[in-house]
Amino acid sequence: MSSKVSRRSLLKKGAAAAMGGGAAALIAGDTLAAQQGGAPAILTNAQGGRKAKAVLKYRNELPTVEEITLRAIGGRDVVIRVEACQACYSQVTQALVTGNQTGLGLGRETPLTRATILGHGLVGVVEAIGPQVQKVQVGDRVITCQHAQCGVCYACLRMRGDRCMNNSVPSFASFDGKEVTGALGGGGFTEVTVVPEEYAVPVFTDIPPAQLSNISCVGSCGFGAATTMAPVEMATDVVVLGAGIVGMHAIQGARIRGASQIIAVEPIRYRRELALKLGATAVVDPNVEGDNLVKKLQEMCTSRVAKTDRRFAGGGYVGPDYVIEAVGGDRMKPKTEVGPDPTGVLPLQQGWDLCSAIGTYVTTSIGQPWDANVKFPAANWSDGAKHHIPGSQGGFGSRKEIPRLVRLIETGQFNMKALAPKTFPLSQTKQAFQEAADRTVMVTAVTPNS
Ligand SMILES: [Zn+2]
Ligand SMILES: [Zn+2]
Repeated sequence: MSSKVSRRSLLKKGAAAAMGGGAAALIAGDTLAAQQGGAPAILTNAQGGRKAKAVLKYRNELPTVEEITLRAIGGRDVVIRVEACQACYSQVTQALVTGNQTGLGLGRETPLTRATILGHGLVGVVEAIGPQVQKVQVGDRVITCQHAQCGVCYACLRMRGDRCMNNSVPSFASFDGKEVTGALGGGGFTEVTVVPEEYAVPVFTDIPPAQLSNISCVGSCGFGAATTMAPVEMATDVVVLGAGIVGMHAIQGARIRGASQIIAVEPIRYRRELALKLGATAVVDPNVEGDNLVKKLQEMCTSRVAKTDRRFAGGGYVGPDYVIEAVGGDRMKPKTEVGPDPTGVLPLQQGWDLCSAIGTYVTTSIGQPWDANVKFPAANWSDGAKHHIPGSQGGFGSRKEIPRLVRLIETGQFNMKALAPKTFPLSQTKQAFQEAADRTVMVTAVTPNS
C-alpha cells in the first residue's frame, strides 16, 4: 500500500472491508503507522467466512471440537493463529463435568449461555488486523492475558491495568447458528481466535510458545503477587502457601526480588522438590504439621532461626514479612496427595494468622465455597498494621509486566523451562484438563495448530 494514498481514503476502505466482510477484500491494516511515517502499511483482510476448529462449550454439555466460521473483523480486532494455550485449573469442571458443574469446594459458576471457546489467554501469531489497530502488526507473536490493558480508561490511567474497563471479548464467530465468543482473555483452544487490540501484547522472543502460555493467567497471577502491588523487599522472609503453577511463579518472583528466606508449603511431594530447585529455601508439608503449621512457620521466620527477638537490637515481630497464598479450592479430587482442606478456606485463614503483624498478606486463589468465611480479629483488622492485598493478578498490567517477565526468562533469571507445560493437540483437550485436575503434572497446555 502506497503511503501516497490519502488517510481518508485508507480509513474509508478499511472500514468498508471490516464492516462488510469477504475474505478477498484487502484493506490497509496499519494506516496510522503509515501516516506517522513508521512501519509500512500492512495488507490484510477482514477474515469473514474463514473456518477454524475450536473447542466449544455450550450450556452444560461437555465441550466438543467443532468448526467455527469467523465473522468479518472490526476495526480494532486482531486475528491470531494460536500456538499454545494453558489448560487452567479454573476451567476443569467446565471441561470435564456436565450438569450443574459443582465440584469439591466449588462455588457459583456462571452458566455459559453462548458457545464459548475454552482456554483463557493464549500465545499466537498475528495473521490479520483491523484498519485502526496500532499496538500490533501482522507477524507479531502476541500473548493475551485475562485482563486487557487499554491504557486509557479510569483504571489503566491509575496504574491498575489488571482492572481495565475495556475488558470484554465480543463474539467473533458462529457455529450452528449460535454466537461464538472466547473465554475472558481470548479463547485459546482454537486454531484461530480474535481479540480487541487492547488484549494483545507483542513479545519479541524465541521462548517456546507453550512456556509463554503460562504467563497468560497463572504466571501473571503468581509472579504479580510477588512483584507488583506488594513487591517483595530484599532480605525478607516470604511464605508461599501452595506450590502449584501459581505458587511456583510467586516463589521465583520472591527469589528475583531478593528475599532471604522463601518457605513453600505444599502437600504434593514432587511439587515440594521442584520448589526447592526454583528458589524455595525450605519446604513444609502441611499434612505433616497439621494444627502446628502456623506456629512452625512463624518459628522459621523468627528468633532462633532467622532473626533476633531482642527489641533493642532490631528484633521483636513474629512471623514472615510476606505471605503469598496460592492454594484455592479443589474443583475435583486430585490423584496426588490431598491438602488438609479441599475447600481452600483453611490455608486462607492460616495465611492471615501466620503473617507478621506488620507484614503483607497477598491472596490469589479462587474456588472456595461462596458461603465460607475467614475471620479477622476486629480490632486488629480495623486498627492493625497487617496489609492485605487481595485478588489474582493484582497490579499485573500486562503491557508492562509481560515484556518484563519475558526478559527475565530470556536472561535465565526466571526458570520457565522447569515449568514447561505438558502439551496436547486440540483433539486431546479433555486429557489436558484431566491431567490438570488430577495434579499429576504441574501444568498442561493445548497447541491447536500442532
Ligand atoms: Zn486461568
Ligand atoms: Zn483500560
